[in-house]
Amino acid sequence: MSEGGTIDGLEFARTGATRSGVLDPARLPRLKELGCRSAELRYTLRGGTSAQGRPMLLVEAAGALELVCQRCLEALRLPVDVCTELELATSQQEVDAAEDDLDRVLTSRSMPVAELVEDEVILALPMVPMHARCSAAARRGRAARPSPFAGLADMISDRAKR
Ligand SMILES: [Zn+2]
Repeated sequence: MSEGGTIDGLEFARTGATRSGVLDPARLPRLKELGCRSAELRYTLRGGTSAQGRPMLLVEAAGALELVCQRCLEALRLPVDVCTELELATSQQEVDAAEDDLDRVLTSRSMPVAELVEDEVILALPMVPMHARCSAAARRGRAARPSPFAGLADMISDRAKR
């Protein structure tokens, strides 16, 4: 059985099923591509019915990711706390035609749990992950080893001043 396995979306919702576990970072290839070095993610998936009376999944994920700060390029530990309700759609047309702001996902009889959770975690990530108080700002005064990104940032801010 693969990590998290798969669920039958509509069946899971109809029966109000629950599944929880811990995700293996090796099962999170897209997060890896985004520079995630390690992850500790616990998840819970709950099936049920939305306020609109439609089948839905509640996706919860909590834990932490180790990313790279885009300012100083050092490790950045980012807490994760996601809770998203996804309405199950039975066709892509249904997803495309919807005019409200509800999150939808195309249901199937074998929805990969790890991917569902990974999707929601990726959506919750900041566009540019950075330390809230990054040491790069303090280091700039000294003759620190320059990183290519830091140089780029300086170039951009110099240009903005002109
Ligand atoms: Zn930093």
